[in-house]
This record gives sequence, structure tokens and C-alpha cells, in this order.
Amino acid sequence: MPELPEVEAICGMISPAITGRTIKAVHVVRALATRPQAPAAVARLATGRKIRAVHRRGKNIVIGLSGGLAIRIHLRMTGHLHVDGKPSASTRVWFELGRGRALLFDDPRALGRLAVHTEAEIQRLLAELGPEPFSPEFTPQWLIEEARRSRQAAKLFLTDQKHVAGLGNIYAAEALFRARIHPARPVNSLSPARLATLHGAILSVLREAVKSAKIAYKYPGKSLETEEFAPAVYGRGGEPCRAIRRIVQAGRSTYYCPKCQR
Ligand SMILES: [Zn+2]
Repeated sequence: MPELPEVEAICGMISPAITGRTIKAVHVVRALATRPQAPAAVARLATGRKIRAVHRRGKNIVIGLSGGLAIRIHLRMTGHLHVDGKPSASTRVWFELGRGRALLFDDPRALGRLAVHTEAEIQRLLAELGPEPFSPEFTPQWLIEEARRSRQAAKLFLTDQKHVAGLGNIYAAEALFRARIHPARPVNSLSPARLATLHGAILSVLREAVKSAKIAYKYPGKSLETEEFAPAVYGRGGEPCRAIRRIVQAGRSTYYCPKCQR
């Protein structure tokens, strides 16, 4: 499932191919994909607009359009964007960009969402998000202050987008493994020193994962799995931690090492 590194790589892949192009037509193949916005509204708002820029905020993709509008896409579990190829059985929405070029939103499980908003609405929708991990706002002190006010389990604290934007199931578990923090441990029980270690672990995991994702997404159509990045803990029992355990937190699997993580 796409987290910050995958979304970053997808933005990097589509941006040069679509920026500066005009949307000639919009095809909403499955109405669910734009809910609560009506498919006709998506088509009416986007058609004829020029694509100005592509950027990422947390796990959101924002495609800026002429006239102060923007397309917001959240890929959720299985969403993906392609700039080449033809619509397939899993294509939910696609944009004709002229000269045979298209932007396709594919999503086998159909949990992702796409809608057109004004820039002001986008700001409001994304206002709840915490700082970007690579921004100057995301400091050890920020994490310490946020953790002090929260009784959430460490894993759920990290995947809650209001503390830091962009982490999901895989990279949250990986950062906790590197910082040797138990995923179920209440964050307000962690010392400032351990939270500073966690801050560093988040950045190192994401830095490596962004690098890997950019390789994996270089060629459009590649799968969404974190093929290049090899998580030490997620879903496996590697060396030297042979006894990786799985627990379920808020309905999602968390993997951890009961020996290393306290
Ligand atoms: Zn271990």
C-alpha cells in the first residue's frame, strides 16, 4: 500500500509526463471513485484545464490545475497512477490529455478517492495533517511534545497523520523496529531520548524507502509493492530477529521483535 515513499515516487513519475498538458476529457468509469463528488462534477470541473503542477502532501497527491482548482487523489490500499497504457479492468478514472497521452487512476480494490476542489478547499482538507517528515517543522522536539499529550500506542500514534504526515503500516513498524520501541507501548511513557531516536529512525527509514521507491516506479506499470526496500521487520522473521511476532492494532497487522522492542 502506498505510503509517503511510494506516493513521492508516483508524483515524480507522472509529473514530467503531465505537467503543462490540457485535460481534453474525463472518464469516470466507476462512480464510487469520486464519491462524494458526482462523476459529472469531476468532468465539468477538470475538462479544459491545464495541469500546472503535481505535488504530494502526506499520502495525498495534489494535481494543480489552471483556474485555481486542483485534483486530489488518495490511493489508499491499492490505488496507482499511470501515464502510459490503456484503461484496464481496474481503471476507475482516466483523463485524456491529447496526443495519445492519458493519466489513469487504477485501483483494484476501489478504496482510493479522486475529486476536484478549489485550492482553498484543498488547504482545508489537508489542514489536519501533521508536518512533512522532511520539513523543518518535524523536529525531535515536535515529536516529544506530540507524544507527551498522547496515550496512543506507538504504532497507532505514528500512523495517525496529525502527528506526522505520510507514515503507514509498513514504515511505522519499521521505524519502531529501528528505534527498538514496542508498537503497543503508550507513547507518553517514552523518554525524550527514545523519542529523539524514533525521530531519527523515521527519517532514515523514509529516506531509504524513497530512494527504493524511485527505482521501483521508474517504469510506469510496475507493481506497488515495496520491492526494492527490504523491511527488517515487516512480515518476516529475518536475522538476527528470528521470533518476529504479529499483533493486530486497529484492524491492521503490526510486526515486531519481542526481544528487541520494548
Ligand atoms: Zn530482535
